[in-house]
Amino acid sequence: MTASGTRCIVHIDMDAFYAQVEMKRLGLPREAPLAVVQWSMLLAVNYAARAEGVNRFDSAAEAANKCPHIRLVHVATYKEGESEWRYHDKVDVKTHKVSLDPYRTESAKIFKLFARMAKTVEKASIDEMYADVTHEVDRRYALMPHSHPPRVDWATIVDGASDNHVLGLDALAPEATTVDDVRLAIAATIAKEVRTTLFNELGYTSTAGIAHNKPLAKLVAGVHKPNQQTVIPAASVLDFLKTTPLTKIRFLGGKLGDEVVSTLNVQNAGDLWQFSEAELAQKFGSQSGSWLFNICRGIDDTKVDPKVMVKSMMAAKRLQIKTADDAERWFHILAAELTQRINDDHEFNGRWPKTFTVAGKKKEKICGADTNQSACSCTILFLALTRPGPSRARFRRSSRTRTCCRRRSRESPSPSTSPRASRCR
Ligand SMILES: [Mg+2]
Repeated sequence: MTASGTRCIVHIDMDAFYAQVEMKRLGLPREAPLAVVQWSMLLAVNYAARAEGVNRFDSAAEAANKCPHIRLVHVATYKEGESEWRYHDKVDVKTHKVSLDPYRTESAKIFKLFARMAKTVEKASIDEMYADVTHEVDRRYALMPHSHPPRVDWATIVDGASDNHVLGLDALAPEATTVDDVRLAIAATIAKEVRTTLFNELGYTSTAGIAHNKPLAKLVAGVHKPNQQTVIPAASVLDFLKTTPLTKIRFLGGKLGDEVVSTLNVQNAGDLWQFSEAELAQKFGSQSGSWLFNICRGIDDTKVDPKVMVKSMMAAKRLQIKTADDAERWFHILAAELTQRINDDHEFNGRWPKTFTVAGKKKEKICGADTNQSACSCTILFLALTRPGPSRARFRRSSRTRTCCRRRSRESPSPSTSPRASRCR
């Protein structure tokens, strides 16, 4: 049972994560402009480069034009014939495969730190997490001297840190302060502690949002960036949502958001307030309608779920294979990448995969035009090496398949690195 029944949620997002990983690896100072490149396009841009006008949608050449002293770092790659990723000086899309392993490795360290500092942590992406810090907030709240009415000095809640912002602070009357405001202030202190520890131990800066639910915490985390944090007290929620674009809200950045905007001719969350729950249900179905009615008012009870983990992993490469040797070399590269990720996942989550699928497409000419018409896949069951009996493989063909992959165990992670390796028979 919480002090007031509301939860305290912290959302933490690493600042330009891939760029920070490369800056740390290369020992570059924070003010050095840097962008991470994949082939000729930018994957991430640090804040020093953004200050010089470089943005994520620039090409590498455009970035160099805008900021001649920018450091352009190509992501690590697997080179044809090699089984480990490296930072190669020269890369070619025909002979190299991009590896995001360096970022996954750093991400695993960050999430270990999060797990150490908060009991209930959900991984939202490689560099984003939610933490439900309600219990810790209530523990600290119980130890505080209480005043009536409750008081909170927002300006000094995180030891006077200038990187802590409170939305709608000017309109918050001191006499209207609630117990929940005090609890959010404690959550902000916890967020600051986590971010400071993260920086001191791993050298990464991050941005946080602190609210009573997940969507609000994520939304407000984006208000002040980088290396800052933002709290939204309950009394400021409606004012904030009134002018917040609907498509910025979690789950409204895609098809549903576009549909709501075009169907109702609305832009901001506040524009939805004019519609009743029944009207929204009629247009978007009862589930979506009800959710929309609540989310535009900042109401959401989605739990922070520490068990949310990736359900599948994929290593893929678009390339031309002309001979069986070509195929074998690339299978080695794809398998090497998967092996590392499987082992990392086992170390972090204590699980092994159950199936392993090899899939490919064969280019065919139909009426003289190139088209990907023929696909093949092979699904292999992973069995423990200690388990008696042979591994088994199932082969399946897509509806348009005329060929089927029958390669043997070279595609699968090797037994020496993956204890439950598979064999295709
Ligand atoms: Mg980020």
